[in-house]
Amino acid sequence: MAMMQTEPTISTDVVLVGGGHTHALVLRRWGMAPLPGVRLTLLSDLVDTPYSGMLPSYVAGRYSFDEAHIDLRPLARFAQCRLVVDRAVGLDLARQRVLCATHPPLAYDVLSIDTGSTPATLSVPGAAEYAIAAKPVPALLRQWQQLIEQVEAHPQRPLTLAVVGGGVGGVELTIAVHERLVELLKALGQPATNLTLHLVHRGEELAPERNRWTRRRLARVLRSRGIQVHLNEAVKEICLDESSGQRRVRGAAGLVVSCDRLFWVTSAAAPAWLQDSGLSLDDQGFIQVGDTLQTRSHPNVFAAGDVATMVSHPRPKAGVFAVRQGPPLADNLRRYVQGQPLKPFRPQRQFLSLIETGDGRAIADRGPISVESPLAHRWKDRIDRQFMARFQDLPIGPMSAPPRRPAPPHFEPGQAPLPPTPHPSPPPCAGCGSKVGSAALTAALRRVRQDFPEVASDAVLIGLDTPDDAAVVTVPPGMALVQTVDYFTALVDDPFLFAQICLKHCLGDLYAMGAQPHTVLALVQVPYATPAKQTEMLYQILAGTTKGLLVANAPLVGGHTTVGPQLALGFACNGIASPNTLLRKSGMQPGDALILTQPLGTGTLFAADMQGRAKGRWIEAAIAHLLTPNQAAAAIFCAHGATACTDVTGFGLAGHLLEMLRASGAAATLTLEALPVLPGAIDTVKAGLFSSLYPQNLQAADFVDRRWGNHPIYPLLFDPQTAGGLLAAVPAAAANSCLAELHRQGYKTAAVIGRVTPAAAPAIALTADQAASHRQNREAIL
Ligand SMILES: Cc1cc2nc3c(=O)[nH]c(=O)nc-3n(C[C@H](O)[C@H](O)[C@H](O)COP(=O)(O)OP(=O)(O)OC[C@H]3O[C@@H](n4cnc5c(N)ncnc54)[C@H](O)[C@@H]3O)c2cc1C
Repeated sequence: MAMMQTEPTISTDVVLVGGGHTHALVLRRWGMAPLPGVRLTLLSDLVDTPYSGMLPSYVAGRYSFDEAHIDLRPLARFAQCRLVVDRAVGLDLARQRVLCATHPPLAYDVLSIDTGSTPATLSVPGAAEYAIAAKPVPALLRQWQQLIEQVEAHPQRPLTLAVVGGGVGGVELTIAVHERLVELLKALGQPATNLTLHLVHRGEELAPERNRWTRRRLARVLRSRGIQVHLNEAVKEICLDESSGQRRVRGAAGLVVSCDRLFWVTSAAAPAWLQDSGLSLDDQGFIQVGDTLQTRSHPNVFAAGDVATMVSHPRPKAGVFAVRQGPPLADNLRRYVQGQPLKPFRPQRQFLSLIETGDGRAIADRGPISVESPLAHRWKDRIDRQFMARFQDLPIGPMSAPPRRPAPPHFEPGQAPLPPTPHPSPPPCAGCGSKVGSAALTAALRRVRQDFPEVASDAVLIGLDTPDDAAVVTVPPGMALVQTVDYFTALVDDPFLFAQICLKHCLGDLYAMGAQPHTVLALVQVPYATPAKQTEMLYQILAGTTKGLLVANAPLVGGHTTVGPQLALGFACNGIASPNTLLRKSGMQPGDALILTQPLGTGTLFAADMQGRAKGRWIEAAIAHLLTPNQAAAAIFCAHGATACTDVTGFGLAGHLLEMLRASGAAATLTLEALPVLPGAIDTVKAGLFSSLYPQNLQAADFVDRRWGNHPIYPLLFDPQTAGGLLAAVPAAAANSCLAELHRQGYKTAAVIGRVTPAAAPAIALTADQAASHRQNREAIL
């Protein structure tokens, strides 16, 4: 019986570029009431977006990383928003596409930009090379962490630092740096005089935008801390003293300061990537927006936060304004999509500024009024924690609110609503095999072939160039055809990445057999969407597939596409191998070393991710492994005389190892601490978050040593893996060089995890000897 479509048809793409303060709030509001048929996508160059209000205190060591950063991944999941982790590098406004650094262009109907600003005057000679810019913040924080580690390692060494820029941000950062380092030196038994800190400012007074009392108070705080303030000094050059490694800062009024590190916190400048975009920009290169936050040039492009200038209400570039724009932007994006009149927003002129002065105190400054006290600091802490609490513990999954039906469209004369996108009528059923229309497929294929290099192969007699009922390929004489197929639903919602992950997963079987990929067919299911959206999705999927196939050196020769409730993908992969050199699961010999190329934990991590309980950075680290092809590892194993090999996937390490042991008539001993594990996997296991296949995989526990059942790594033996690594048995004599080669070729976490032992029946014994496992792997690396 044909199944009727129950999911909404995707007809509109709203793309948010940059996960700044404003967009974080938009995501939260959107998550409370998503619009059916409207797909939200966040393009962000990072998953942990820093909250500016907590930045100085984070530097001072008062907040943890998680307290001071918004994790965009669970937030995007809450908003039912696709997350694409990449950097926007340009816009194709005519075609309504965002150009990305590593992804294919991302199509939009409605675009919103919140990518922040960069510190101005980085163009001063030497600044870009030798100064640490305040933005991007993650780079600043990395350098800061390195500096802390350096002080911890050599606390007795004198340290001279400089901050350039005496606005509120620069002053707060200077105080925070001083506070943290003085405390650190004290804890390490060193005098505060080991630290010399300079603050260089081009103006006559610090924090010129704040009132007189605040400015004086800040100057006094800096003086009392012994910070050397240099006013009326515009930095004109920074150079490196090669002999000492110090940076020499030269000011226009004659200042010369030598320092070990230099922070660049000058006023906000516009990001360079927008300059040729075609959007209307102000003199400084910021996007001009009207009161509705629409750009002046393109009504379907919005902008907010530092990157935008409200032409009728210009305000300083400050996080407080970016935050205020969140609700009106969210509201106007919804209204625009629904063809409703947009609402103007007028930011307030004066705002409360709570400026940290260190030692648990802050200045509360609004208009002409200021007060400094510990109370102001507690107040700031409370406000900031309340703000961040909005992005934590979000109800995700079955508990989240069901999508509301959109209000009926209401068009106002004079406004530019979104051109209505036709809903296919009637909704598609599955009676036609749920096939995607041929026009969508042809258009997607044509675009991919234009944009990406393809693998050409003489083995293809009839393929995509000359489409027919089936592909026809030849196999070299004397070679065996090795075939495998796999198919699964999307575990990441970025189709370009998902295609690469899926392909790696499917090709894993070929590599595990010692075969080379020959030809591939794709099975794609795209979610219900208008034909234009289907074309885009197919384009993204085929682009990812083509990218992966280029590495595998195998052409795509055919496939089948359907529509369904969700994105799903599979590949039928043909490989070729000499029948004599096939790597089998059988063949392990007692004494062989067991080498695993990739860390475990994808099952539990992605199960946690589905519930919004995995940290974004854990999933990003996992994805990096999921994208690492098994190809080179297979060649390394073959070159080192591997006696057996398999790819670790759905049955987990224990399940797949048992298959090898059964086939080989052997047993194995594994050292639990030697198992490479993905960051966060132990946390999610401890939290009881398991993939749905896990209970079935636990059946393998009958063959596994139970003495270590309470060990934190034990459950990961049964964790189902997607796009997992290879597990091979390698003769003991070759194990060290094999592991060293794996590390050299990028499999940094590959490890000897145990040994094959003689046995009548398959079994996995466990040891949990940390020292032994470290020794084992260190020896192997050396
Ligand atoms: C040291 C320091 C302290 C500060 N302290 C305060 C303070 O206490 N209070 C205050 O109100 N303001 C403060 N500010 C200013 C504040 O940081 C900014 O005004 C605020 O961050 C602007 O928010 P936003 O949403 O515009 O952008 P951001 O917070 O800068 O967010 C932009 C996001 O977009 C991402 N992004 C950037 N480019 C791209 C791209 N091309 N593609 C994809 N993603 C991209 C970034 O990684 C980031 O996640 C401080 C600034 C500094 C430097």
